[in-house]
Amino acid sequence: MPAKRRNDFDDVPAKKIKHAKLLPIPVLPYAPVRQDERQHYLKLLHKEYAKGIDDNSIAISRAVEEEYEICKKSKSRMEYTNVVKKSMYKLMKARKIGDDRRREKAVNDQRDVPTTSTAQRKISPSPHPSLPASSASSASSASLPAPSTPLPAPPTPPPSLYSQLSKLCVPKELLIKHKFVMDLPEVVKPDDIEECIRCHTKFLRSEQFDTKNHRTTVCKFHPGKMLLETNSNIIGGGQRRVRNREYSNRYYTCCHELQGESEGCKELPSHVFKPEDPGILHWFKRFRTIEGLRKTLDIRDDEKSQIERKRRIRAIGIDCEMCFTNLGFELMKVSAIDFDTMKPILDNLVIPDGEIVVDLNSQVSGVYSVPKEGDPGTLTFDEVMVRLAELTDRDTIVIGHGLENDLNVLRLIYPRIVDTAVLFSENQIDPMRKDPLKKLAWKYLSKNIQQSEHDPMEDAEIPVEIVKRVLMNANLRKQRVSR
Ligand SMILES: [Zn+2]
Ligand SMILES: [Zn+2]
Repeated sequence: MPAKRRNDFDDVPAKKIKHAKLLPIPVLPYAPVRQDERQHYLKLLHKEYAKGIDDNSIAISRAVEEEYEICKKSKSRMEYTNVVKKSMYKLMKARKIGDDRRREKAVNDQRDVPTTSTAQRKISPSPHPSLPASSASSASSASLPAPSTPLPAPPTPPPSLYSQLSKLCVPKELLIKHKFVMDLPEVVKPDDIEECIRCHTKFLRSEQFDTKNHRTTVCKFHPGKMLLETNSNIIGGGQRRVRNREYSNRYYTCCHELQGESEGCKELPSHVFKPEDPGILHWFKRFRTIEGLRKTLDIRDDEKSQIERKRRIRAIGIDCEMCFTNLGFELMKVSAIDFDTMKPILDNLVIPDGEIVVDLNSQVSGVYSVPKEGDPGTLTFDEVMVRLAELTDRDTIVIGHGLENDLNVLRLIYPRIVDTAVLFSENQIDPMRKDPLKKLAWKYLSKNIQQSEHDPMEDAEIPVEIVKRVLMNANLRKQRVSR
């Protein structure tokens, strides 16, 4: 029976493969079918095997062996062709059943990792478990609540892809290449002179941000991006459709003005600066490793609660929104979710430390007024630190997109980073040319995100969803190969 013979080949180990070429083995003393016909059917049989086996040499070997067995046992040409066709049909059917099973498993896996829609999200307005919502936001850094709150009993985590997540952690050297601060820097005192990152005017920080005598100035700029387009697509560009590049112009997406037409369509009473040098960032507000922070805040889990906590938050997705103040680029909103459950663990506005808030970056951040003490769900920077120190430690895998920006405003150093911008951007050579999250969301999840301002909770979720999708796809491929 051909089916019996085929099963015999299913366990042929790769090492024993002898038939590298797709040629029929001679049948002695004579074969019931001509050699050229055998070659034809062997090709068809191999085609079926190759659809289910990724390693072509194994597919060839199995096809050659099977065709030989069929030919050896067939009494006539008709018997030979019938058995070969039946064999091909069986392979096709087996492949279809395998595909269905895999599809079913993938669906079940996805069910195990539910995603949370914006509408379903619920998060306690109390910024700290030990504080009532009303008093929490008024807690200053000097009176930080004792971080010894007993943790609630952990829910049993659903099966997750966590075990494979560590494979995606980006090596430290690569993170450094991508401007991540991975070690505590030496303090570098900055010059007083700064260049506005918007209008490129040079200004004196001490003069501009004199808190007693705040001087206003005029900073004109375009908040949008500059794009290259043909004349016909620009407002007032005329009806003529000019495709020649020489007639192309650069225009701003914010106001459709051409480059150089005006100094800017937006005006602010102050210039803004954004230090990049880790030492200068450290001068404005110090960096801490997550372990250093936990030690400073004296967060010590006893053995039992440590295990419970780890079972709860083993990996997080995080995203921050920032604003410009007299202290540079500061945290204004933080959103984080638990990798296993996709439930929000942080979703709070944050009061900037700088007294003078110059620009809320509303077009991106979606924040339109300066977060103040007493606003529900609003935290101070130090309260955010307490929450993160309680929820995470050096073993926590932190997932995000362009995380160096988020971690630099948090001034936190985490050793285990999964960054979708580093891992999945098309350009893997130039760290300056990373794909935006919007592009990856479309590519991996077919989701159209960030249509206007950013939803930081969505920006925290999407990288986690991308990572899960990549891990699930890798699992499917592995199953296919091992068949
Ligand atoms: Zn503009
Ligand atoms: Zn400016």
